[in-house]
Amino acid sequence: MTNYQPKDSSKSPRFCGIRTFMRLEQIKTTDHVDFVVVGVPFDTAASNRTGQRYAPQHIRNFSVLLRPYNPDMDINVFDYCSGVDYGDIDVIPGNIHRTYDNIVAELTPILDKGIVPIIIGGDHSISLGNLRAFHKKYGAVSLVHFDSHSDTWNDYYGERYMHGTPFRRAVEEGLIDPRHSIQIGLRGPLYSAQDYEDARELGFEVVPMKEVRKIGFDQVMKRIHERVENRPVFVSYDIDFVDPAYAPGTGTPEVGGPTSFEALEYVRGLDGLNIVGFDLVEVLPTYDANEITAVLASSVIYEMITLTALKKRRELQQKAEVLNQQQ
Ligand code: MN
Ligand code: MN
Repeated sequence: MTNYQPKDSSKSPRFCGIRTFMRLEQIKTTDHVDFVVVGVPFDTAASNRTGQRYAPQHIRNFSVLLRPYNPDMDINVFDYCSGVDYGDIDVIPGNIHRTYDNIVAELTPILDKGIVPIIIGGDHSISLGNLRAFHKKYGAVSLVHFDSHSDTWNDYYGERYMHGTPFRRAVEEGLIDPRHSIQIGLRGPLYSAQDYEDARELGFEVVPMKEVRKIGFDQVMKRIHERVENRPVFVSYDIDFVDPAYAPGTGTPEVGGPTSFEALEYVRGLDGLNIVGFDLVEVLPTYDANEITAVLASSVIYEMITLTALKKRRELQQKAEVLNQQQ
């Protein structure tokens, strides 16, 4: 069986070769893989700055520094899983609906085989396309959403498909189960108090950043795990969840957010959930400084890959236990 893993940087210097995520092979295959990293460089639904289309390659460029052993989670990722850089999905700049169709068409064969896609945006509008594909495979999934915004507005200038509306549309389309979904990190000035209430009225549990600070990491993680239980869950990570001091390269930054250490811890804390896919969105390279945002984004994705390996290890251990009991 083919086990796709990164190029060995002790033999081939990491600055050599064409940049793929973590130096994984760039091959569009669904055979013998547990996860794929795939770019969706769509950014024409952003309400403020644009340029997120350049994020997948920007993050890949920095990701060559990642190494296979994760000391914080004590696992050599590629002992348990195999993955490739699947390349980018062809988007249609300026046409979100045809882009959504392409996202669904491209993700479907990946999901049909139970592979975990790790999707790099793009602006946050792409999550609606992602969720449409996940719904076909898993039904209404739970959503764990890290963001400084709830992205449940109804429209911008009368346009209903923008980067601030995907999760309202997802609820309306029945793609997610809001009773088992949670949004974390919301902050910043709003138009009115109704903005958070709208998300709650849709059924989401909402933990604004101020409450995150007040109750602390362990309580936040407890609430996430209690909310989701063992349902199939999609994790959507908007890089503006993180304080702009640690992630300046984004379109709608909000100060007063988590540090980069905390940003990683919130992903690590998801271990144990039944995660079926991830996206990481809203990185905007032209506003990045010294690749600060790319360092963080590539590390967040690395923690997502690690979670996939940990899930795989759990499944293998469970299988072994069943076999032992049968003997
Ligand atoms: Mn967002
Ligand atoms: Mn945001």
